[in-house]
Amino acid sequence: MCDPAQDRVLVIAAHPDDEVLGCGGAIARLAREGHEVHIAILGEGVTSRYQGREKADQTEVRELRARAHEVAALLGARDLIMCDLPDNRFDTIPLLDVVKTVEGFVDGIRPRAIYTHHGGDLNIDHAVVHRAVLTATRPIPGCSVKDIYTFEVPSSTEWSFGQFATPFQPLVFVDIRETLGVKLQAMQLYGSECRAFPHPRSSDVVKAMAQRWGSVVGLQAVEAFGLVRSVRQAGGGK
Ligand SMILES: [Zn+2]
Repeated sequence: MCDPAQDRVLVIAAHPDDEVLGCGGAIARLAREGHEVHIAILGEGVTSRYQGREKADQTEVRELRARAHEVAALLGARDLIMCDLPDNRFDTIPLLDVVKTVEGFVDGIRPRAIYTHHGGDLNIDHAVVHRAVLTATRPIPGCSVKDIYTFEVPSSTEWSFGQFATPFQPLVFVDIRETLGVKLQAMQLYGSECRAFPHPRSSDVVKAMAQRWGSVVGLQAVEAFGLVRSVRQAGGGK
């Protein structure tokens, strides 16, 4: 019997651009291979640049949202859900509220696989999202989520220097040779989030990371993922 969630993938990111930096190549590849990819971005990604959230320029928030939709379309995602959690202040919200938000997405989409943040990132929002995802996807009977992968976000994962949790140790390597170009293009769409080399969020470094992980497994370009769990169920599951 066909599992309705079999080909459904949910990417849960904290900020617009994390989905590209973390797994943009994999999203594009999964979409090209016929998987149904949904993206959920929990934060607005702007207001921490201002002294107070109320002082933030709402035009900037709207523009970033528009870019995120363009990026999702470019990557071939089925849809993009955007929430409004305060940038770099996810730790000011009760974790349960973030969990409930994620639970709502998981219950509605019923994904088979989830891609989300590594739990030891320097950025507090990333760490909160990681924890919320694990809580929202506890593997109770009937849970659609069989596989959970974590991605790295340059300028956050490596900049914790392994001080907050187990360092990022990828065990899953996805060949993105054919979609690295789309990933770099998507980064360009997020113009304001890109930086010049040697910043980790520069095109040069993102490409170098793909090549570096590729070299680890004998491929040209790769996105590397941590594995939280992978459940291979008999019958309905893979
Ligand atoms: Zn982020």
